[in-house]
Amino acid sequence: MDSIIKGKPVADKISAELTKEVEELKSKGINPKLTIVRVGARGDDLAYERGALKRCETVGILTEVKELSEDITQEDYINELKKANEDNSTHGILCFRPLPKHLNEEQIKYVISPEKDIDCFSPVNAAKVMEGDKSGYPPCTPTAVVEILKHYGVELSGKKVAVLGRSMVVGKPAAMLLLNENATVTICHSRTKDLEKVTSEADVLVAAVGRAKMVKANFVKEGAVVIDVGINVDENGKLCGDVDTEDVKGKASMITPVPAGVGSVTTSVLAKHIVKACKMQNNA
Ligand code: NAP
Repeated sequence: MDSIIKGKPVADKISAELTKEVEELKSKGINPKLTIVRVGARGDDLAYERGALKRCETVGILTEVKELSEDITQEDYINELKKANEDNSTHGILCFRPLPKHLNEEQIKYVISPEKDIDCFSPVNAAKVMEGDKSGYPPCTPTAVVEILKHYGVELSGKKVAVLGRSMVVGKPAAMLLLNENATVTICHSRTKDLEKVTSEADVLVAAVGRAKMVKANFVKEGAVVIDVGINVDENGKLCGDVDTEDVKGKASMITPVPAGVGSVTTSVLAKHIVKACKMQNNA
């Protein structure tokens, strides 16, 4: 059996549901809209932006991109963000991060309106992830991990899950979302002792370390489900994940590929959050 589970069927299903919801909103005169706030033109931001704009177009969500100069001041950035907060036609705001070093992200994260913060920049939404409060917006990537597991019928309740990585963008929120699904979660990081022993006891392994092909077959329990969040470039300049797919695929019962895995679901989750925000802001 081919153990590779792709993101596209998950993304397509979410998109099809959203297209219907957006049509319903539009029939009531409500037009969901995303505003992207981008500083400069970093390659990875532009790649994600293209995917997000395409996904929004597919489901009928309006979009606007505020491209700000690389040397924008803290005050001017905050003013632009406040304008997006106050713009009634905008329901979701995506701020590309990390911001350039001269901007103080620790201050800016308190400026974005939590109601429009569809990718968990605001501490209010981060706290909601911790509390298991579903009224907020967890970050799109770890949410995509849970969407994939649910789509492919992976039982999480009572299962042992190991999350490799503890960043605020992926590892920690992924662990909290999986805990909210009643999994027994272990968070691993660079100081974890006997890493392979810990991960090879897990029924589900989520890899988010940012190290090309680090996870080999000896990290994985026979029959485990492996979700590869990593986006790296290998020694031949090819895109690859944190998991050595060739080494692991015979041992895992399911494994997401890179590319065409988690990354392809992330923009659908983004679109889902915009529609949710739009509905909440319009009591629709
Ligand atoms: P990050 O901020 O660099 O965090 C990496 C985490 O991995 C840290 O917690 C680090 O531990 C841990 N780690 C690093 N080396 C390790 C090792 N040798 N053994 C055990 N743990 C180790 O990265 P991130 O932002 O979370 O992103 C992780 C990966 O996901 C990257 O490849 C990134 O490109 C990818 N990503 C994908 C998407 C998507 O849509 N698919 C979205 C976002 C990110 P310490 O905390 O101890 O340093």
